[in-house]
Amino acid sequence: MLANAYALRGTPRHQRVCSLCNGLFDLRHIDDEYHVIMNCPIAVHERHTLLMHANLADRPQADLPDCPLTRTLYTLTNPQTPEHAIALASLIMRSHATRELFKYIIDQHQSLPNPTHSDLRPSITAFRKSPDHRLLARNLPPTHAILSLLMRLHTSTWHDLQNPQLQLHTQSYSLCQTIDWTT
Ligand SMILES: [Zn+2]
Repeated sequence: MLANAYALRGTPRHQRVCSLCNGLFDLRHIDDEYHVIMNCPIAVHERHTLLMHANLADRPQADLPDCPLTRTLYTLTNPQTPEHAIALASLIMRSHATRELFKYIIDQHQSLPNPTHSDLRPSITAFRKSPDHRLLARNLPPTHAILSLLMRLHTSTWHDLQNPQLQLHTQSYSLCQTIDWTT
């Protein structure tokens, strides 16, 4: 996550934005744990799986602020079952690997191509084989899932890609945290 990576380099928090949401949807979101787990479209498929294994009806034991978004994030990031833990780990690892793949593709094509583009599959294969990315690429979803994600990113709005179950549970259409961009 950029929010953490750039924190080490002294970049102010409000400049650590998600490059995917900024580049494809012209939206500025701080690229932190909240963004990746709750609303970044890069994890739309993994979030769906996570929601199948997390019990949102569980009442968090911790003393948390009375904010449904914060409480939901806490529930999602505190697994009570092995299946929930695996789904959470998969979301984090796959999002990270997919983001690095997209950066690699954008470097080659200057944009994130439509999944029907003939150069896309060779780029994914080259990423999987490259010495710099081979280890990370083990965490990528299968190629058909990457192509399906790209299709959804190209044909949906940002809000269409929000998880309906999370929206229902938190009664929040956008699933966005309130961000003070001045800090
Ligand atoms: Zn994002």
